[in-house]
Amino acid sequence: MQASSRKDLARAIQGRPLRPSAKRGFMDRANHIGTWAGRQKLAVGGPFPQCPGGCHDVAIRPARGGHLVRRQARALEGRQAARALARAALRQLRVRGERAYGGEIFKCTEHSERLHESARWLDFEIPYSVAEIDAAKRLVLERNGQRDAYVRPVAWRGSEMMAVSAQNTTIHVAIGTWEWPSYFDPAQRLKGIRLDLADYRRPDPATIPAKAKAAGLYMICTISKHKAERKGYADALMLDWRGQVAECTGANIFFVKDGKIHTPTPDCFLDGITRKTVIDLARRRGIEVVERRIMPDELATFSECFITGTAAEVTAVSEIARWRFTPSAITQRLMDDYTAEVQPKGKKAAA
Ligand code: PMP
Repeated sequence: MQASSRKDLARAIQGRPLRPSAKRGFMDRANHIGTWAGRQKLAVGGPFPQCPGGCHDVAIRPARGGHLVRRQARALEGRQAARALARAALRQLRVRGERAYGGEIFKCTEHSERLHESARWLDFEIPYSVAEIDAAKRLVLERNGQRDAYVRPVAWRGSEMMAVSAQNTTIHVAIGTWEWPSYFDPAQRLKGIRLDLADYRRPDPATIPAKAKAAGLYMICTISKHKAERKGYADALMLDWRGQVAECTGANIFFVKDGKIHTPTPDCFLDGITRKTVIDLARRRGIEVVERRIMPDELATFSECFITGTAAEVTAVSEIARWRFTPSAITQRLMDDYTAEVQPKGKKAAA
């Protein structure tokens, strides 16, 4: 690695602005970071279909136990990167979807901490600190010149061992960013999207690390979402292994009854960062939020329904299979509050 590249990356990690010359070209010179013109190449294990307008991704590939700044590693380029990520899908891939608004990643550090935590559930340690991952995400965004974007770090085991045991594999991390429009049709976001009921269920945590955001857990999500889309629905509600209401294929779910919000207890599915944010926003508004067991036959008693997720944000639901909901005041209030909450701090203060 050239000394100048190392300095620039160190500046980025310390949160200092890059020198103008560095912004132009240092990613191409640094030999532990590669750029490639990705076309959904990083969408391995991800639940999102579009990549409009082309995108530029940056990969970080450390040597074993390597340090982002000090060690050298090979740059990933083009097909090679796509192949590496496809291989990664076969290994214990751990992903996170994050969102940047106005150049700032919402809950950036919380997402990086979750990446670490989730990797541990899959029995590996990510060889970068939370601060390094935070800095690398910001660097990729800055390098790609994107302000409103989806940010996707992925961590995976290398292919050094072909057996079930993977004790001596290298842990890799890559970060991709995309310009990101609305996950669901914007016109449907308040009107309400239509959900099918998935055939597959969220698994018993005794059978798999159910709360990890691991690619393996998305297999049933992808199948369920495809099936729903083929039938004209936007997404599908998944029950859990006990038959209780769980979540959608890439978002958490909430219901409203008599002015109170009800949502399933996240004991076998992802306790989303957006979910927690929205619960907090509702409580700040004095709206009671009850986390509990919800059975499908209770769906008929709820008046509103909405889903939450980094990609979905807060999106109203108008129907789930045979059940109907009317998006109304509480859904609208939380959509607005969430939109205000994700604004970059400077803008929020100025508003
Ligand atoms: N459940 C699943 C299966 C998801 O993929 C997501 C999206 N990451 C969520 C819930 C929502 O999580 P978050 O709010 O952290 O994006």
